[in-house]
Amino acid sequence: MKIFISADMEGATGVVHRDQLVPEGKTYERARKLMTADINAAITGALREAPEAEFIVCDGHGVMRNIILEELHEAAQLVIGPASPENKPLCQSQGCDESCDLAFFTGYHSRAGTPGGLLAHTWVGSTVCNFRINGEIVGESALNGAVVGHWDVPVGLISGGSELEAEARATMPEGFVWVGTKQTYGYTAALCLPPARTKKLLEEGAAEAVRRFKQGRLKPCKPALPVTMEVEVYRREMAEKAARAPGIERTGERSFATTAKTTIEAATRMWTAVCRAQDEEPAWLK
Ligand SMILES: [Zn+2]
Repeated sequence: MKIFISADMEGATGVVHRDQLVPEGKTYERARKLMTADINAAITGALREAPEAEFIVCDGHGVMRNIILEELHEAAQLVIGPASPENKPLCQSQGCDESCDLAFFTGYHSRAGTPGGLLAHTWVGSTVCNFRINGEIVGESALNGAVVGHWDVPVGLISGGSELEAEARATMPEGFVWVGTKQTYGYTAALCLPPARTKKLLEEGAAEAVRRFKQGRLKPCKPALPVTMEVEVYRREMAEKAARAPGIERTGERSFATTAKTTIEAATRMWTAVCRAQDEEPAWLK
């Protein structure tokens, strides 16, 4: 059995503030350890139900060099490196393919525009104000769910701040296990569980996700094909630059879209367009 883990940082245990999310931050080194520990807990729990399982982990946050490889569980391999479209066209889902059976999303966060959402954004906080799949506004959980769903890989476990649960339940197939790492108060504050608690919750959640998978209770995220993905950005210039990417058409003053035969093709084009929309190459892409 092969499990793909897409790992973000905003929803990880104890993370509530931008200082924890960037390498320049004073508290970043501690946050990296917390993020890595969450992933290890999910792996440990899954191994209880599937001792032979292997894991591909994609570091899916910012510079994408956050997870501490020397502390990562030995059953895993890690996708490391910035998500330039040439490097990692699938962005936070790079490393998933037809050989994977099941996916976990750890450390996830709510979508751009979520009222009071903890560090809420979609892909690039400064750029994307709405992301739609076939007309429905989604966040990174449903977006990456649709990408891994291309290979019929269901999402069995999602962890993050409390407000993400409602978003995930509204936009993803039912059946996944939800693990809340903290009770969100606002954009940069939450009531956080200590790692000693989230470790147990993630272990139990991952074990339950594998049981549900084996019982055939999980469904992959399969948007109707051909699929249309549309992004609305904050400024007109961003849409102008993005619309120069291949396969992208302008749909409004601040929006652009693509229609493709597969979710991975559409998501790859969209990620390329969103990277092109940047004013200059941002530090997280270098
Ligand atoms: Zn992130």
